[in-house]
Amino acid sequence: MHKGIAASRGIGIGSVCLIVEHDLSYEKKKIEDTAAEKARFIDAVERFKSETMEMAEDIKKRLGPKEAEILEGHLVMISDPTMAGEMGKMIDAGQCAESAVEAVCDMFIGMFSKMDDDMMRQRASDISDIKVSLLKILLGITDIDISKLEPGTILVAKDLTPSMTSQINKENVAGIITEVGGKTSHSAILARALEIPAVLSVPDITALVKDKDSAIVDGTEGVIYINPEGDVLSKYVLMREDFIRKQAELKSFVGKPTVTADGESVELFCNIGTPKDAKKAIECDGEGIGLFRSEFLFMDNNHLPTEDEQFAAYKEAATIMGGKPVIIRTLDIGGDKDIPYLGLKKEENPFLGYRAVRYCLGNVDSYMIQLRAIVRASAFGKIKIMVPLVTCVEEIKKVKELVAEIKKDFDEKGIDYDKDIEVGCMIETPAASLIADLLAKEADFFSIGTNDLTQYTMSVDRGNADVAYLYSTFQPSVLRSIKHIIECGKNAGIPVGMCGESAADPLMIPLLISFGLTEFSVNPVLVLTARCTISKWSKAEADTLAAKVMNLTTEAEIQTLLKTESKAKE
Ligand code: PEP
Ligand code: MG
Repeated sequence: MHKGIAASRGIGIGSVCLIVEHDLSYEKKKIEDTAAEKARFIDAVERFKSETMEMAEDIKKRLGPKEAEILEGHLVMISDPTMAGEMGKMIDAGQCAESAVEAVCDMFIGMFSKMDDDMMRQRASDISDIKVSLLKILLGITDIDISKLEPGTILVAKDLTPSMTSQINKENVAGIITEVGGKTSHSAILARALEIPAVLSVPDITALVKDKDSAIVDGTEGVIYINPEGDVLSKYVLMREDFIRKQAELKSFVGKPTVTADGESVELFCNIGTPKDAKKAIECDGEGIGLFRSEFLFMDNNHLPTEDEQFAAYKEAATIMGGKPVIIRTLDIGGDKDIPYLGLKKEENPFLGYRAVRYCLGNVDSYMIQLRAIVRASAFGKIKIMVPLVTCVEEIKKVKELVAEIKKDFDEKGIDYDKDIEVGCMIETPAASLIADLLAKEADFFSIGTNDLTQYTMSVDRGNADVAYLYSTFQPSVLRSIKHIIECGKNAGIPVGMCGESAADPLMIPLLISFGLTEFSVNPVLVLTARCTISKWSKAEADTLAAKVMNLTTEAEIQTLLKTESKAKE
C-alpha cells in the first residue's frame, strides 16, 4: 500500500499504463540560417496553438467552459508578444529554436515560481507545460495517444500536464496516480471534473510500477495498491460498487428540495469563508449561506478592511446568492484565530478570553465599520447578521442597539438597506444554551455552533489531541444542550439552525430532525450527502431513535446505536 494525496474521490481498479518521460535533450548548435530556424519555430508554435485550441474545444464540449480555461490560458500565454518575441529574438541571434524556447520559458518559470501568490505559481507550471509541448513538437516526439487507451486503464505518470489530462476519456481511464501535484493542481481539478479517482504525490511511483501491473486507486482515502492480494482486491471491488451506487443516489438529489421522508421541508445552507465560496455553494446546490465566517476577510488582509472593502465582499456574496439568505457572522477572532495587525494581547486562556463579540464590543468603532458594511450590503440580497460567542443577553441587546443606530443614520442620509434585516445569535457556549429562552426573546434566529458548544460543554480544547477522546457532540451533555436550545427557539417562535460540523453528520441528522432543527448549514461539498440523509428519516422514525438515544448514558453506546440504525437506512 502506498499513500498520496486524495485528489479525486472514488475507487479505480485496473491495469497500469505508465507514461514515461521523454528525453527532451538536444544539441545546442549555432544556427547559420536563422530565417529557416525562425520558420521552424513559428511552425511549431502554430502547431502547438492549433492542437491546444482543438483540445480546449473538446474539453469545453465534454466538461464545460471552466475546465477549458487552463488550456485557453496556455493559448493566451503563447500568443503574448513578449514570450514568443523573446524566443524569436534569440533565434535571430543564432540560437536554435529548442534552446530559445527553453531559455525564455525557464526565465518566466523562475520569475513566477518565486511569487507569493498561488495563481502566479500556477502560471509557472503552465509555462512548464508549454515548454515541454513546444520542445516535443520541435524534437518530433509523439506521445502515446491517451484518448485511445484500453478501458480500465490506471494512468501512472510523474505529472499529468493539462494537455495529457484533456485527452483522458472517462470510459477508458479508471484511475490516475502521479508523483507530484496537490489537491488544487490542474490534474486534480480535471480528474475531479471527469470524476476519475486520483491519488497524487505518491513518492517514486513511476519507478515502482511497470506497464500492465494491476492497481487499485482509492481517491477518497488517498491510498493505492500495486498488484494487490486477492482479498484486498475483492474488498475494493465491493467498495467500488458501493461508491458508484451512492454517487448515483446523490446525483438524483441535485435540484431537489430538502425534505424528510415524510415530506417535512428543512433548509440546507452552506458555510463559507470568502464571497467567492458563494459560487461553490450555488454549484453544490446550497439553498443559502448559513455561516459566512467574515474573519477570513480580516485574516487575508494586512490591514483592517475598510467599510467599502467589506461592503464589496458582503454585496458580492449576496449578489451571487441571488436573494437566497446569507447569514454573515460578525468578526470571530481570538481563541485559535489570530490577526497579527490587530495586536491582540497573548492570553493565558485564549478560548476563554477576549474573543469574538467580546472583542467587537470592546472596539465599537471598528465593529461599527463592519456592521455598517453589512447593513449597506443588505440592500442587495437577503442578508442577516449573526453574533458569535454570545454568553449573556446584554451582548445581543448591545449589537441590536448598534444596528438600530446605523439604520437611523442610513434613514437620515437616504442610504438604502433592508429594513427587516435580522440579528441572530450563535449558540455555542453553555451559558448561551442555559439562557436560550432569554436570548430567544432578543434574537431573530439561533444557529448552533457545535464545534465550540462541544468544546465549552466538555471543557475540552477543540485542538488538543490528548483530550480529543472527550471531544464528541454525541456526549449526552452536548446532546441535551442541543435539544434544549432547539426547544427554546421553538417555544419563542424563532428558527433554529446549526452551522457547526455536526449539521452534516449522518449520525447526528436524525436526532436534529427529531429535535426540530429547521436549517442545516454545511460545507458545500456535503450538501447532497446531507440532503440524501435527511430524505431517509421520517419525523416519527427520528423521534423513536432520539428517544432511545436520550435514554443512553455514554457516548460510546449512543454512537453504536446511531451507527446501527443509520446502516439500516443505507
Ligand atoms: C462552531 O463553533 O460550531 C462554529 C460554526 O464556528 P467556528 O467553527 O468558526 O468556531
Ligand atoms: Mg464557533
